[in-house]
Amino acid sequence: MPDQAIRTIVIVGGGTAGWMTAVPLALKLPKTCEVVLVESAEIGTVGVGEATLPTIRHFNLALGIAEADFVRKTQACFKLGIEFKDWGHVGNRFFHGFGDFGPAIENRPAYMYWLRLSRVFKDMPSYEQWSMATMMARSNRFMPPQDELPSVTDAYSYAYHFDAGLYAAYLRDYAVARGVKRIEGMIENVEQHPGTGFITAVKLRDGRRVEGDLFVDCSGFRGLMIEGVYQAGYDDWSAMLPCNSALAVPCAKAAPLTPYTTSTARAAGWTWRIPLQHRTGNGHVYCDGYTSDDEAARVLLEGLDGEALGEPRQLRFTTGRRRKSWVKNCVAIGLSSGFLEPLESTSINFIENAVGWLLQYFPDRACRPELADEFNRLVAQRYEYVRDFIVLHYKLTDRTDSEFWRYCATMPIPDTLKHQIETFRETGRVVVYDKEGFNVPSMVSLLMGLGVVPRRDDPLIEAMNFDHLLGHLASRREAMAQVVKAMPGHAQYIARHCAAP
Ligand SMILES: Cc1cc2nc3c(=O)[nH]c(=O)nc-3n(C[C@H](O)[C@H](O)[C@H](O)COP(=O)(O)OP(=O)(O)OC[C@H]3O[C@@H](n4cnc5c(N)ncnc54)[C@H](O)[C@@H]3O)c2cc1C
Repeated sequence: MPDQAIRTIVIVGGGTAGWMTAVPLALKLPKTCEVVLVESAEIGTVGVGEATLPTIRHFNLALGIAEADFVRKTQACFKLGIEFKDWGHVGNRFFHGFGDFGPAIENRPAYMYWLRLSRVFKDMPSYEQWSMATMMARSNRFMPPQDELPSVTDAYSYAYHFDAGLYAAYLRDYAVARGVKRIEGMIENVEQHPGTGFITAVKLRDGRRVEGDLFVDCSGFRGLMIEGVYQAGYDDWSAMLPCNSALAVPCAKAAPLTPYTTSTARAAGWTWRIPLQHRTGNGHVYCDGYTSDDEAARVLLEGLDGEALGEPRQLRFTTGRRRKSWVKNCVAIGLSSGFLEPLESTSINFIENAVGWLLQYFPDRACRPELADEFNRLVAQRYEYVRDFIVLHYKLTDRTDSEFWRYCATMPIPDTLKHQIETFRETGRVVVYDKEGFNVPSMVSLLMGLGVVPRRDDPLIEAMNFDHLLGHLASRREAMAQVVKAMPGHAQYIARHCAAP
């Protein structure tokens, strides 16, 4: 057998996706494989993307990144989940926390007992009081989960808010120190093998050619190779996720330093608030068919809780996914492979997944189509399930105060999502299609937060002693409250362990 191993990988793009791809490839592939990254300062990066999911911690850990160093250098804060305001109806407020509502009882999720008991005992406190992440967030406290805590109180997780520009720079330095070759230049042409159609090189404006065996397209929305060369096609999901524009603006930081993202529903979309150590990130995601850019800017600026640090930056997007993310010897990762609005901070998580799958199905120079097919199947499946979860936020609205919300309430949704909603509404059971994606507690937070009350209870819970259950849940709640009370404040924890210089 001739040596078919990949000798050079060329990553096109130095945004979050490019550098998040470069580091694991440099660390995990044999040293005989060179990793080259081409980026253009002239084009720049999207530069937003400040909220993450807990999986980012595993990603960083696998790369040997020390948390305190990373938090300091990216001006990061800790994130326990998302507070949703005015979703469902104006005045509504609920929390989607990272973690469960306590451990299962007799193999059944704890929230099901709460549902049953709350019908009998009308003064039951809100189910959110059994979520550690929520209770910590509500009192602005933070501490990483400790293994030695009883399981009732350690059932939470956390992620980060960070400065996207600093994160890309952090990874760039990390990658270059581990052998990744960085080339600054504008790609003007992509060369293909006349017989196979494989990409052989990218040609820069100054005449340089960068040859490779495998090309990773991290060129952002434009999809320089995956669309520009291979016309992979795009599934447009705007009919169920109509937002297509965003305005982003940082503002001066304001106390208290909340350990969560805030997402507030607006007349034609929603605004985000993401606290960092040095400033607060803000944005307005909206549909330009239902409001003007000027009005969207007004809503954003009026909602700031500190002085705006610049003019709002406009971004446009089409929600959907590339029909194929891997074609021949080109693999698209990041915005080049698709985009779902940042309501649940999923884009960086998609990058983590895609890099993991690329390593799992890493090809030789033949780039067998079976590997590409499997990669594409996994990407498509993950995108579709996450899409359903995002659509859920909009679909289950009782808001009728704007045309946008009236559209959302009546728009068609996928059968997969219909099945999830109806199963919960009728039986209180949660359908999870993708165990690696948003799981039972996330679905429960959203469904209950948006006001769905199941019509029936679990018949097996009927047979249990309600007074005993009530006492058990009360003692759990008390144990959680005690642990939260003893935790440091979020700002205090950062000051002690990982304050930026
Ligand atoms: C409004 C908004 C808010 C978001 N918020 C979040 C969030 O909170 N959480 C989250 O997980 N994600 C979020 N995202 C998504 C996140 O920003 C992206 O997933 C992430 O930044 C990755 O982008 P990228 O690297 O794929 O593309 P980009 O940042 O666009 O980078 C593209 C790179 O390709 C290079 N390039 C392109 N063409 C050429 C060329 N011809 N020659 C040379 N180089 C070229 C550019 O120079 C650049 O380096 C958000 C996105 C938007 C739009």
